[in-house]
Amino acid sequence: MHIPMPSLNANQIMHFWFRVIRSTENDCWKWVGSINKSNNYHTAYLTIGGIKYIAPRLAYYIHTGIDPNEYEIAHTCDISICCNPRHLWLATHQENMQDYFDKGYSPSYGNTRLTKEQIKEIKNLYSISSPESLAKKFGVTRQQIWRIATGRQRTVQ
Ligand SMILES: [Zn+2]
Repeated sequence: MHIPMPSLNANQIMHFWFRVIRSTENDCWKWVGSINKSNNYHTAYLTIGGIKYIAPRLAYYIHTGIDPNEYEIAHTCDISICCNPRHLWLATHQENMQDYFDKGYSPSYGNTRLTKEQIKEIKNLYSISSPESLAKKFGVTRQQIWRIATGRQRTVQ
């Protein structure tokens, strides 16, 4: 269940952006306010009226005027504390998880991220190794190995 976005006055909006390093238009705008760390995942948040709101959701809302509602905010840049509206997109939970997997993350291994070389190696080794051994070798899940080997892995930037 998602908490509806609060109505914000100019002062609150100013306070929000005060906690964001807005560099150039296309760079990541990093949150410098409160951060909740769990499972290697950093959640930027701002407390308004006793409620903790996720900072990138607020950024999206302030920028577009649209309450993300049941959607999640996904990052094209993978920086969870980035508040640059240009890096944010609305995703269903499923899309967000898919995006996460496609980029080489694995929920059971936190922020394990595979390099292009590792992905190439997995593809090469898949025909001669078992998915289990590859999963162990690269520290990812068997499903992820399968996804990579069968080409269901999007190109990693
Ligand atoms: Zn970013």
